[in-house]
Amino acid sequence: MEEKFGLKALSTGEMLRTAVEEKTKIGIRVEERMASGDLVPDDLIVAMVAERIEELDCASGVILDGFPRTLSQARMFDEYLAERGMALNLVILFEADDEAMVKRISGRFSCARCGEGYHDVNKPPDREGVCDICGGRRFRRRADDNPETVRHRLEDYHVQTEPLLLFFREKGVLESVDAMADIEQLELEMESVMEAT
Ligand code: AMP
Repeated sequence: MEEKFGLKALSTGEMLRTAVEEKTKIGIRVEERMASGDLVPDDLIVAMVAERIEELDCASGVILDGFPRTLSQARMFDEYLAERGMALNLVILFEADDEAMVKRISGRFSCARCGEGYHDVNKPPDREGVCDICGGRRFRRRADDNPETVRHRLEDYHVQTEPLLLFFREKGVLESVDAMADIEQLELEMESVMEAT
């Protein structure tokens, strides 16, 4: 979607994992919370996103993955955008049931060299232990991608993030896609809601 729509994709989870790996001040502060699946503080995450989207590569627009996750983040971000004459055009809700999410997330892993994503059951590499794309033989699994932590993250989602749906619905920017569909179908649905915006 990045190339097709000329947007820069930013994942707040990815930004935080890099901070943890690089042992930055923020990384040290959030490491424990992330490992147990807790959300990190609102002001920290909003400041991090605000700083990042001011960089040049975000000038023609961004896709935010994993942000905002609480009403307070959404309100702070709204203010930030309004002050700069920017707007949020579209929010995509990925509809999926919780147990399917536990299975999907707990089974995923990626190539440590090129980042290609895999799944134990749904998308194993063609040759066991070897990346299809780059031939790498080392893989990574996120510390928080285990069934217990995923269930905890889903609870947080229902309590802290689901209320955002009403907030965005009232703004008229919310669209849903069926995240239970297969990957190709889901990509088509995403493209069509993005094209319509
Ligand atoms: P993700 O990669 O989106 O699943 O995020 C991984 C972890 O990073 C989450 O479980 C939180 O600990 C933290 N995180 C990412 N985005 C946010 C956010 N918007 N607000 C609070 N915590 C976040």
